[in-house]
Amino acid sequence: MQTIRVHDKLFEPYLSESSIAEKVKSLAEKLNKDYEGKKPLFIAILNGSFIFAADLFKSISIEAEICFIKLASYKGTKSSGQVITAIGLDMDLFNRHVVILEDIVDTGKTLNEFLPQLYHQQPASLKIVALLHKPEAMVFPVNVDYTGFSIPNKFVVGYGLDYNGLGRNIAAIYQLVE
Ligand code: 5GP
Repeated sequence: MQTIRVHDKLFEPYLSESSIAEKVKSLAEKLNKDYEGKKPLFIAILNGSFIFAADLFKSISIEAEICFIKLASYKGTKSSGQVITAIGLDMDLFNRHVVILEDIVDTGKTLNEFLPQLYHQQPASLKIVALLHKPEAMVFPVNVDYTGFSIPNKFVVGYGLDYNGLGRNIAAIYQLVE
């Protein structure tokens, strides 16, 4: 595998297609065990998680539902800071076993602000699956329940993740050359 260019930046191979596929399978196997008989509702957060969610869901063999939402943040009043709203969340979460699918958890800010809105609907349980997690970058207290890969605090693209709109269609995951 070779270094690639996305916009003005160079990226080097980091996680291969086969290692990602293996990890996604093992995450799915864990979820199949933990959620047997619970008919979980997976909520995939767009855009970045679309490939991860599709691959993972193909290996979910128990009864399960999936929906896709987009988070939009806008500046609220001074006291509330940024407000995050979910676009497309039309499922009733009451008493459901909810599993959030994220491509990457970085500082934890997005989920930290968004999760209270989900808890408000009183799900039976709420867990987070992240393909990638940057523990060193974590600032907000979000507990990632299922992590694919813990990675260093470096920018990555591919497998659904973009750099300014490009790179989502790269099958492997590449890391910024600094
Ligand atoms: P957080 O709110 O956890 O800081 O950030 C989460 C979001 O930031 C992710 O859903 C993703 O959109 C973006 N992000 C964080 N780190 C990276 C990265 O290394 N590469 C890409 N492409 N996006 C990232």
